[in-house]
Amino acid sequence: MAVVDLVIASGNAGKVREFAGLLAALPVQVRPQPPGLEVEETGSTFAENARLKAVAVARASGAWALADDSGLCVAALGGAPGIHSARYAATDGARIDRLLRELAQALAADPGAGRGARFVAALALAAPDGRVLLEVEGHCPGEILQAPRGEGGFGYDPVFLVPDLGLTFAELDRDIKGCVGHRGRAFALLEPPLRQLLQVGTQLPCSP
Ligand code: IMP
Repeated sequence: MAVVDLVIASGNAGKVREFAGLLAALPVQVRPQPPGLEVEETGSTFAENARLKAVAVARASGAWALADDSGLCVAALGGAPGIHSARYAATDGARIDRLLRELAQALAADPGAGRGARFVAALALAAPDGRVLLEVEGHCPGEILQAPRGEGGFGYDPVFLVPDLGLTFAELDRDIKGCVGHRGRAFALLEPPLRQLLQVGTQLPCSP
């Protein structure tokens, strides 16, 4: 079976490693995106931003490109920080502080609003001619705690409780977070159609 070059549309080495692990069982050669390539995330949804990144990187690199866009949506905040999760404040600590402050204010105004939230991850796979081959979205429902708990993970992990497990993302073993988390769930949706694409890849007009 032919091995397909697959560029991970991210400048983040950690993300490239994470996807390389998820893709390890598939006939793909994973590589990072060309250096210096910055794609503006001008979309209004996670899916739009993932698509923008995948298409731009596939065109620039001449190979299939896989992109993701993710973030935290809090119901009582009307879905914020959402697609602005990374830019909500300057550091992870400041982002958590702002989230807890704004949620406390929202709950003071409407105590019934609750602490429900979900992490979302959109994935898009694009071909060098700019066509989007696959798109999926994974969700992980949870609740925002009143104070951080746990040492692991990154971003909003310490305040995101997975109610079924009684643990925050920051308290979960990395492999468990990989299974129950939004990116893992999105990848589980992507994998079957990706396998199909790869098996017939050399006969498809869209194959690189
Ligand atoms: P992006 O998908 O790289 O643009 O990341 C969006 C932002 O969402 C990150 O910078 C984090 O603040 C947040 N985020 C996305 N996934 C996670 C996660 O698994 N845990 C904690 N924060 C996350």
